[in-house]
Amino acid sequence: MPDRGRIVVDRFKCAYCGACVSVCKNNANELVETFLTIDDSKCNCCMLCVKVCPMGALSVKS
Ligand code: SF4
Ligand code: SF4
Repeated sequence: MPDRGRIVVDRFKCAYCGACVSVCKNNANELVETFLTIDDSKCNCCMLCVKVCPMGALSVKS
């Protein structure tokens, strides 16, 4: 969904709490050890993860 932007993670802010993973209905983000990955092909940019992140580590990039 390049026209809607993509979700990016600030790796310096992310605390690996997993909150974004648990709210994503598309299984687009995944915590692999201490590394959060976001699969753009699954993400519909619903922004739920951005809203729940306690660290403000997620943002949308156009
Ligand atoms: S924006 Fe929505 S679909 Fe995309 S990773 Fe976050 S919660 Fe999942
Ligand atoms: S909710 Fe925020 S701090 Fe928690 S794993 Fe996701 S990006 Fe990292």
